[in-house]
Amino acid sequence: MLVYHLPGTFETREAHLDLLWEAGATGLEERAGLIRAYFDGREELPGEVADGEWRVETEQDWQAQFKATLKPVRAGRVTIVPPWLRHEVEDGQTALIIEPGMAFGTGHHATTRMAVEALSDLELGGKRVLDVGTGSGVLAIAAALLGADHATGLDIDPLTIPIAIENAEINGMLPGRVAFAEGSLGLGDELEDTFDVLIANLYAELHDLLAGEYAAALRPGGPLILTGILTGKLGLVRHALDREGFGSVSVREDGEWVMVTATAPAA
Ligand code: SAM
Repeated sequence: MLVYHLPGTFETREAHLDLLWEAGATGLEERAGLIRAYFDGREELPGEVADGEWRVETEQDWQAQFKATLKPVRAGRVTIVPPWLRHEVEDGQTALIIEPGMAFGTGHHATTRMAVEALSDLELGGKRVLDVGTGSGVLAIAAALLGADHATGLDIDPLTIPIAIENAEINGMLPGRVAFAEGSLGLGDELEDTFDVLIANLYAELHDLLAGEYAAALRPGGPLILTGILTGKLGLVRHALDREGFGSVSVREDGEWVMVTATAPAA
């Protein structure tokens, strides 16, 4: 089969998927930040998606190659692994098992890794955590494994919810500890409660839009962890946090990606 490999980012994926589809792809697949587009023959592709690579593969090649590239990812006290590498988690580390699939969040992206590290730095015992844009459920499950009393994961993409639930089950999380639902903040659905910690791996423009909702969903002084932010867009997020009265803003960078932490405004 003829497959076009295109590495991408969360921000570009939708546009790239549309362009590949329009260029005649017969199928599209995404795993761990890589788009794989199936074609019947080589096509002239538009410039935005032209820096990928054409490959002729068998189904077995792809599965084997994909599995071989995945390595355990260490993020603070947590090591994220696919099920077949669980034996590689070192003593003393908390194993977080994620079945790599269609939902974003295998731990191989810098933003997920930084977010799990930030959770790992908090004392989560007895806390209630909200994860907005949960994808594979990785951050909500990490929070529960690190001792949170309860973690809720929301995602606007309904396809992610069964994937997140399956990942929670693989990690032995009972439904009472983690819950996933289709939804978001700011869509008119009232959240029943406020949360002690809020984490969101989305993108800068969305953090700007949702900053007021983050303040409303958090208890006063509660930690906020935001990532998915490209370095060039950090100003937008800083400005939104100032506007909404967040304090103790601090920034961490990994390559082109930024994570921002802050504390919710006092009541
Ligand atoms: N939390 C996972 C992680 O850190 O690896 C996945 C993050 S992925 C970059 C962003 C997720 O947010 C996607 O699953 C996407 O469907 C979801 N999403 C996008 N816009 C959203 C919104 N307005 N509200 C809730 N989820 C959203």
